[in-house]
Amino acid sequence: MGAADLNAAVALLDDLRRHHGRLVLVDGVLQLRAPQPLPADLIDKLAAEKPNLARYALPDWPATLRARIAKLASRGLNQEAAKAKATAEIAAQWLWETPPPIPLHDRCAHCGRDTEIATAKPLLVAKSTTVWIHLDCLVPFRAARHEAAMRAIRAVTT
Ligand SMILES: [Zn+2]
Repeated sequence: MGAADLNAAVALLDDLRRHHGRLVLVDGVLQLRAPQPLPADLIDKLAAEKPNLARYALPDWPATLRARIAKLASRGLNQEAAKAKATAEIAAQWLWETPPPIPLHDRCAHCGRDTEIATAKPLLVAKSTTVWIHLDCLVPFRAARHEAAMRAIRAVTT
């Protein structure tokens, strides 16, 4: 492996880490893990490097939501109330367990522009993940995260 190949491999792993993906060896098979779908170009590059890489399994959030609705309904909540309560709970769980991609150094997690101490603050956005964000970007960032959570958990709901 030449220096250029090595640099490309390191850059690929950095990109994977920014998206919270990781490679794990399970029973001799290299598997890709990630809390949410990875960008298609990243998957393509990984597949080109490691043709035998097992596809990653994503958490089944709609199934988690359906199970929570059923559990709450079994405790006596009517279907509508159970769905509303379960949706709020599972959305909060998704937000906690699904960190956004880590921005490049000194960049805002929402807009991607440079951050300065005067206009940006660190924000804990998920377990073990803190990003810097402009104060003006806080509201749209949270709204976008909430929308992403609802898209992920509502893929199938009745
Ligand atoms: Zn910003």
